[in-house]
Order: sequence, then structure tokens, then C-alpha cells
Amino acid sequence: SGIKLSGDSSGTTTTGGMTVREMTRLERIGAHSHIRGLGLDDGLQPRKGGSQGMVGQAKARKAVGVIYRMINEGKIGGRAILLAGKPGTGKTAIAMGLAHQLGENTPFTTMSGSEVFSLEMSKTEALTQAMRKSIGVQILEETEVMEGEVVEIQIDTSFASGDNKPGGKKGGMEKTGRLTLCTTDMETVYDLGTKMIDALSKEKVTAGDVITIDKASGKITKLGRSFSRSRDYDAMGSQTRFVQCPEGELQKRKEVVHNVSLHEIDVINSRQQGFLALFAGDTGEIKSEVREQIDAKVVEWKEEGRAKIIPGVLFIDEVHMLDMECFSFLNRALESDMAPVLVIATNRGITNIRGTEYKSPHGIPLDLLDRLMIVSTDPYTHDEILKILSVRCEEEDVEMADDALELLARIGTETSLRYAIQMVITASLAAEKRKSAQVEIEDIKRVYKLFVDVKRSTQYLMEYNKEYMY
Ligand code: ATP
Repeated sequence: SGIKLSGDSSGTTTTGGMTVREMTRLERIGAHSHIRGLGLDDGLQPRKGGSQGMVGQAKARKAVGVIYRMINEGKIGGRAILLAGKPGTGKTAIAMGLAHQLGENTPFTTMSGSEVFSLEMSKTEALTQAMRKSIGVQILEETEVMEGEVVEIQIDTSFASGDNKPGGKKGGMEKTGRLTLCTTDMETVYDLGTKMIDALSKEKVTAGDVITIDKASGKITKLGRSFSRSRDYDAMGSQTRFVQCPEGELQKRKEVVHNVSLHEIDVINSRQQGFLALFAGDTGEIKSEVREQIDAKVVEWKEEGRAKIIPGVLFIDEVHMLDMECFSFLNRALESDMAPVLVIATNRGITNIRGTEYKSPHGIPLDLLDRLMIVSTDPYTHDEILKILSVRCEEEDVEMADDALELLARIGTETSLRYAIQMVITASLAAEKRKSAQVEIEDIKRVYKLFVDVKRSTQYLMEYNKEYMY
């Protein structure tokens, strides 16, 4: 396969890559599962009244929308963005929105600052791995085609006068398609050709569309457009498509696209571990020579048109947990040709840089701060909190009476949004217990008494401090 630098080729590498990606997806369920994008319109303006689970925070969403466009156009590898704002103002939510917006094919890695401190590897190795997980490599591979597969066809549509075609509208312009097939079996060619022309006449497809036709059922699925090859239609991670060939010639080749990350290539090629390490998640440290070789190879593939590099995003939450060594490493790593976009978030104000006596805004050293584009998030209004809570109710399948929701929003304003969000599910359990399908004010009151918020907990601590251990 095209992924391995040496040794035998095997199809398992792609499977490995997909498994890793599935794991990343799992993390996104939970606190932010209601977030499905940044909620922007076609002009990248935030939709009013909320969209894709996103409420308010218009300024920050707009700014991240601009970043989205730049990433999408491949314009900002190596840049860094800081999401700064008070706790619970949606920094992580916005980062998740960006991940969704970018879609499956742009790598997006999430980590918390504290994760770099592990016993298994050095801090800089952990950061290097995270960075390389955030750079995608799309490898194009040509292989022989097996007869009897679901065949994909690129339609290279041209326009012909209707007179030239049986059944064509007189004088009108009509679409014709040219097939490039991976079979020499004339019956198949004829069969698929008929199905395609049928699809064309029903206007289901237009010039430039890439479609699949299921041989057995004749069902046509649109995969995307041929001029936006990379993004739209290979959502499955690996997709077969046909190479165009000169007219009249039937070519027995197909192109397979593998989506992997630089990190996956590293692991597969690092001798001690092999690709099984991808499943175990136990990759250890990878030698820098291996990485250098891989980078050189990937650049070579790129120049030969056999690979495409897709800079993705590395998101580091709670970035104030990093220390000086990590910050200086990040600063340098961003200079590299193959750096992803770095998005970091913190809720700290002016504070010590971890492990030092130096104070700095957000606990981030000035030289790194200087190269950041800063997006700030603002506290929510009562109405926005109400809206977020109602989105969460929907997400968690909880029916809530209007007055109960109003009370919960008030609690959210006075305590914290997170506390109020937690109460949605606990209150619904309370309602369930009294056999009600709907959460009422009494359920909210009940869980408010059962679970204290930070403010009350602190008050309690101050009153009874002496009775605790210290
Ligand atoms: P911290 O600084 O404490 O890490 P944060 O700014 O990252 O906080 P989030 O975790 O993003 O805050 O927000 C808290 C909760 O509120 C999450 O469940 C999040 O999905 C939700 N939330 C925050 N902002 C929005 C928003 N604008 N629209 C919808 N949901 C939101």
C-alpha cells in the first residue's frame, strides 16, 4: 500500500486509521453533543436565534467562521488561535462547532493541557504526537479492479444537440455522459451506461457529478462533484473512484483514497511498535529520524501527485496547564511546514505561567501570546441561557414545563450554566420518580436542594471549615 514506506503492503493500515478516528468521535458525545456546527449561514454570518445547537456568542462564532474558511481553503497552516473567556462561556463548544463544520476529512484532535504530563512519554513527544494526529495525508493509490464490485463512474458531461440523440428534445441542448469503467465486460458497460443516461435524463445528476451506481439495484447515489474531489465524497475515509482515460479506451484501474494522519504513518513505520500499537494506543516515543524520513516521503508523494496534505486542527483546552517547556515547543513547532492550526482555550486571567514566578495574561508566555489571534467569549444573558437549556432538554429528550425552564435559567444565571445543564437530567429523573412525563418546578426545586452549586458549597465550607481536614 502507499502508506508504508517499506515492508509488505496490507489493507489493514486503513482499518487502523479508521479505528483511531472512531475513538475521537466518541469523545464528542456528551456535554457538547448538541453542537453540530458553528450555526453560520452561507455568508458565514451567525444565524440569528441559534442554529446547529449553537446559541448567541455571535462575535466569537463569526471570528471562528473566518478561521474555518481559511482552514478550508488551506490558507492558515501554522497559525494559532486563542479562545479566551470566563468559565462556561462556550469556548469548548465553539471549538467543537469548528470540528463539525470542518467535517470528517479534516483531522481535528482534542486534548487537555494536563494530558501532556504522562509517565509514558515526554511532554514534547505527547505534543508532537498530538500535532501529527492533526495533519491528514490523503494518499491516492491505483489498484486493479475486481469484477462484480459496486462500480463508480465519473460522468464527464458534455453538451450535444438534441438532434443527435435518440429521444432527445429537438433543437435543445442535452447532456451526454462519458463513462470510464473498470471493466471490460461489455454487458456491464452497456447496463451501466443505460442507467447513467437514464439518470441524466431525469436530471438527477449534472455535469461534474461523481455518482455510484449499484450494479444490482441500479440505485444511484450522488457522492459529490468532481472538481471538489477531496472534500465531499470520500466521507467514508476510503473511497473508490475511477481514473479518467482517453475516450473509447476501457481502463482496468481504479483510484483508492486512504485518509490517514501523519501520526498514523509514524506509528506504522516505527519499527518497535508496528501498526498494532494504533489499536492499543500504546505508541511510546517515536524516533525523530523516522519522522524526518516520513516527512520527506510525504512531500515526495505530494510532488508526484500521489498524496495531498490536509492541515487540520489541534485543540488544546485548559492551555494554562502547560508549562514553559511546552509553550516554547509549541512556538517552535508552529514554524514547521507541516504544522496544523492550533486552537487553544483558557478561562484564566493574569496568572503565573505554570512552574514559574512569572505572571502573564492567561498564563501564556508573551512571545507565544504575540503570535496568537485572540477570540474572546462573553458571558451569556438570561435569554441565551434559557435557549441553551432548551436545546439541552431537546438533546436529552427531556420534557420541561415553561415555568420550570424559566426557573432553571434563573438558577443558571445566578450559579453557572454548567450547573443548570447538569440539572436537566437530574430533574427529569426526579419527575420520572413521581411518574410525571414532564419536569415541573417542584422537580427543579428538589434537585436544587439535593445538589449544591459551587457558591453554596463554598459558603458551607466557610461556615464549617474547621470540621474538615486540612
Ligand atoms: P471552561 O472555561 O470552564 O472550560 P467553556 O468556555 O469551555 O468553559 P463550555 O464547556 O463550552 O464552556 O460550555 C459549558 C456548557 O454549555 C457545554 O455543555 C456547552 O456545550 C454549552 N454551551 C456553551 N456555550 C454554548 C452556546 N453558545 N450554544 C450552545 N451551547 C453552549
